Amino acid sequence: MPEKLSIESKINNIEENIKIINDKIAKAAVKSERKFEDISLMAVTKTVEPIFINHAITQGISLIGENKVQEMLSKLPLITDSTVKKHLIGHLQTNKVQKIIDVVDMIESVDSIRLANEISKRAYKLSKNINVLIEVNIGKEVNKAGFMPEEIKESLYEISEMKNICVCGLMSVPPIAKEKKQAEAVFYSIRKLFIDIAEEKIDNISMDVLSMGMSSDYEIAIEQGSNHVRIGSGIFGARLY
Ligand SMILES: *Cc1c(COP(=O)(O)O)cnc(C)c1O
Repeated sequence: MPEKLSIESKINNIEENIKIINDKIAKAAVKSERKFEDISLMAVTKTVEPIFINHAITQGISLIGENKVQEMLSKLPLITDSTVKKHLIGHLQTNKVQKIIDVVDMIESVDSIRLANEISKRAYKLSKNINVLIEVNIGKEVNKAGFMPEEIKESLYEISEMKNICVCGLMSVPPIAKEKKQAEAVFYSIRKLFIDIAEEKIDNISMDVLSMGMSSDYEIAIEQGSNHVRIGSGIFGARLY
């Protein structure tokens, strides 16, 4: 059980954690011949109370991610900085698309053609373009969402025909690796897919964002080419469900 901390010590921890993470991101970026500015850090705020999210924002966080529509909608009015970018990173049911399409800056978890279609339809009605990432089930895990790696290209050709939906890259939550080598290999394979798709030059599909790496493995992910890491517990501490 994570211990219950006072608000003050939690806030101190958040500040400290963000500093440490930024430092590690900078080092990993250099290792992969990029700059700190090339990597974006998302604070994953699921289960985190707005007071702590707001504090993280004062410490330089400019992008937050939630995995549930309802939680996102109920917390957003309590976020004091309206310029912070908001991404949805969890499975999205098609019947909930209309609830969030107007409030999110990106949907990172597009995991089916059907969902892409619904997003396109709703975005078209609002005369707005919506940025998305395509989620890849790189480990082909039965209980995990995402396109299978071998079906991605074909699916992207289909999505490229849809109106008002802009694919900006890939997102993945790989299987938990036991060893560093294993993690490296998986991240490398996602990167390879990302480059492969970019070289295909599909109309309306760009491969700019490679969203991979979480609290336990973001340095490895960056070394293997990630330019967008999603960190929750590493910033806010263990989640109390
Ligand atoms: C919760 C979550 C994260 C962050 O996980 P941590 O291990 O707490 O950093 C990243 N990506 C997704 C899709 C998540 O649901």
